[in-house]
Amino acid sequence: MYEAPARSILSAVSGFIAQAGFTHSLTPARNCTFGCTYCYVPTMRVYGGLKREDWLQWGQFTTFKQNAADLLRRELRPEQRIYCSPLVDPYQPPEAERRQMPGLFAELIACPPRVFVIQTRGPLILRDLDLLRELARRTLLRVSFSLTTDSEHVRKLYEPLCAPVGERLAAMRTLREAGIAVHATLAPLLPCNPDALAALALESTDADLIGDPFHTRRTKCRGATTRDAALRISEHRGFAAWHDPHFAGGVVERIRELVEAAGRRFGVGPEGFGWLAEVPV
Ligand code: SF4
Repeated sequence: MYEAPARSILSAVSGFIAQAGFTHSLTPARNCTFGCTYCYVPTMRVYGGLKREDWLQWGQFTTFKQNAADLLRRELRPEQRIYCSPLVDPYQPPEAERRQMPGLFAELIACPPRVFVIQTRGPLILRDLDLLRELARRTLLRVSFSLTTDSEHVRKLYEPLCAPVGERLAAMRTLREAGIAVHATLAPLLPCNPDALAALALESTDADLIGDPFHTRRTKCRGATTRDAALRISEHRGFAAWHDPHFAGGVVERIRELVEAAGRRFGVGPEGFGWLAEVPV
């Protein structure tokens, strides 16, 4: 775990996140120690302020932005719709010791933006429940909680350093019971039983569901895509079809059918992520 001063903490967004309706992203650290085998971030290379060692040694260290709270105090504006974060999980394991997020919440509570979204797969978020409740009284706070599969076997293959499925479901329920808007985000869709995954996600949340299959070079010729490490796992374990857009589309449609039968929406890509940035009129 390293620290270094940063020049800014909020970045104007482009691409996928901008299409979804966000104005800014907030990235508290570079490089993410969850080190998911499919993570698209290291495939972005220099974009987002990544350094060469970040993409070459993805997941092996993290560098926190030392002056994050001071920068945020200067950069926050009431009209911003902020996504935290497209480049790192704010509740990656070293956050337990570093405690960067409570300092950022203090600034957000003092000068709330219009929308603040936390993208995480870390049950550590529950440590900050009181701060989340306070922030939810001042802005549109939404937690987008990553739930990638219903299978512990699959989870251990593709994201061995992340929390087990059961712990994530329990964290989502606790957030919901605390009155925090929490969306299950099935992204990337790892090999799963679609019926079981949809049922778990529906049971643990009240909000609309979001999803995204593996990105593939066949349908996306430029920009961020799935890391090769995940492709190799899929090929060796008989899951290569999950990278096929036609097959993945069938899984998405099955989940959509189940979610809509339960009276909720299931949005893929910018459509689903756009719900996170929405401001009711
Ligand atoms: S938690 Fe997110 S940012 Fe971190 S390695 Fe996994 S996919 Fe990448």
